[in-house]
Amino acid sequence: MTTDFAATRALFHLPEGVIYLDGNSLGPLPRAACARVERTITQEWGDLLIRGWNSAGWMDMPARLGDRIARLIGAEAGSVVLGDTLSIKVYQALASALELNPGRKVILSDTGNFPSDLYMADGLCRTLGGDYRLVTVPPEDVAEAITDDVAVLMLTEIDYRTGRKHDMAALTAKAHAVGVLTVWDLAHSAGALPVDLSGAGADFAVGCTYKYLNSGPGGPAFIYVAPRHAEKARPALSGWLGHEAPFAFDLAYRPGAGIERMRVGTPPVLQLAALEASMDIWDQVDMADVRARSLALSEAFITGVEARCPTLSLASPRDGAVRGSQVSFRHPEGYAIMQALIARGVIGDFRAPDILRFGFTPLYTTFDDVEGAVAILAEIMATDAWDRPEFKTRARVT
Ligand SMILES: *Cc1c(COP(=O)(O)O)cnc(C)c1O
Repeated sequence: MTTDFAATRALFHLPEGVIYLDGNSLGPLPRAACARVERTITQEWGDLLIRGWNSAGWMDMPARLGDRIARLIGAEAGSVVLGDTLSIKVYQALASALELNPGRKVILSDTGNFPSDLYMADGLCRTLGGDYRLVTVPPEDVAEAITDDVAVLMLTEIDYRTGRKHDMAALTAKAHAVGVLTVWDLAHSAGALPVDLSGAGADFAVGCTYKYLNSGPGGPAFIYVAPRHAEKARPALSGWLGHEAPFAFDLAYRPGAGIERMRVGTPPVLQLAALEASMDIWDQVDMADVRARSLALSEAFITGVEARCPTLSLASPRDGAVRGSQVSFRHPEGYAIMQALIARGVIGDFRAPDILRFGFTPLYTTFDDVEGAVAILAEIMATDAWDRPEFKTRARVT
C-alpha cells in the first residue's frame, strides 16, 4: 500500500492559520466524525433509543474497533478491546499479569514512564499489600534490572517527554528468559510507528485513542491480551460487560470469552462513533509509510531548529531509529516560548521542567508546516518575543 498523505490530510478539519504539532497529545477532528457522531445522536440514540444496543451494533463496538486498531499494532484478530481510560487499563493489565506470575512481587518500570502509569502501579501494590512493590530504574538501565525476582515489566515504549524508544522485542525476550511478563504502554506508539505485539511476544499492552488515533477528547483506551493468556487472565475489574453472560444477571462472576472479559461497564458509544470515523482514515494507511514520513518530517524540524535556534538543545535521540514520532527541545524558559509559539498559531506543548514538545503526525502534517514552525520559532528566539509576563502565567493544562 502506498499512502496518499495529501488525501488523508484533506479528511481532517485543521483550523486556518494553525500549524498543529500536538497530535501526539490530542489528535485533530476527522471531518467525517461530525456526521458520524450526529447520526449516532439523532438516528440511533434519538430514534432507536435503547434498541440501538442491538440494532445499531453499539454493544459490539469495543471489539469491532479493537480489531481495526489491532492491524496498526501487530495484534492478532480478537485480541484488542476498547473501553475506560488508559490509567484504568494500565491497572487492569498489571493486576492480571501479576496474578499470572504468582510468587513474584516486583513490578519493574522506568523513571521516564508517564506518572499515571507509575501511580496506578504503586496504588495496586498498596491494595495488594504484602511485599508487592514498584521498582523504577533509569530507562537505560532497564535491561540489566530484569532479574528473576521481577513479576512484571511495565514500560511505555515511547517516552512521553523525549520520544526515546525502547526495544520492545529485545526487552520482552530478555524478560521472558527469566520468567517475567510484560505490559507495554503504547500511548505514544499506536498510530505513531509500526508496532508488532505479536512478533515481539508481548503479554499485555494498553494505549489510548485520543492521541495519534484521533478519537477526540476523552476517547476510550484499548487493551491487548496475548491469545495465549486470554482464557487464563482474570480481570481484576470484574464488571458485568466482561461477564460470560451479562444479561443472565447471575450473582456469580464468570469471565467472558477471551478479550471480552477485559470489558468493564457500558461503552462510550458517542466517542466510539468518533473513533469509527477516524479508523476509516487509518484503514487507508500503511504504517511503514507513516514511519518513513514521520522520520523525514522530524529530521527536517531538527535540522531547521538546530540551524536557527542555537539556545535550544535537542532532548530527543538524534538517531531516528530510537525515536518515536515527536521531537523535544529543552530551554529553561520552555513554557514561555511555547506560549509565544501558540500565540502565533504554532501549537505544540510543554512538559515540565523544561521540555518543548512537537509531534509529527504524517496523516496531516506537511513539510510546509515544519518550515513554517521553524521560521516562527526562530523569530521568537531571535527577538526574545517570549519574554513577556502573559507568556509566563501557567494554565491548568500545559
Ligand atoms: C497520555 C498517557 C496517559 C493518560 O492516561 P488517561 O487515563 O487516558 O488520562 C497514561 N499513560 C501514558 C504513558 C500516556 O502517554
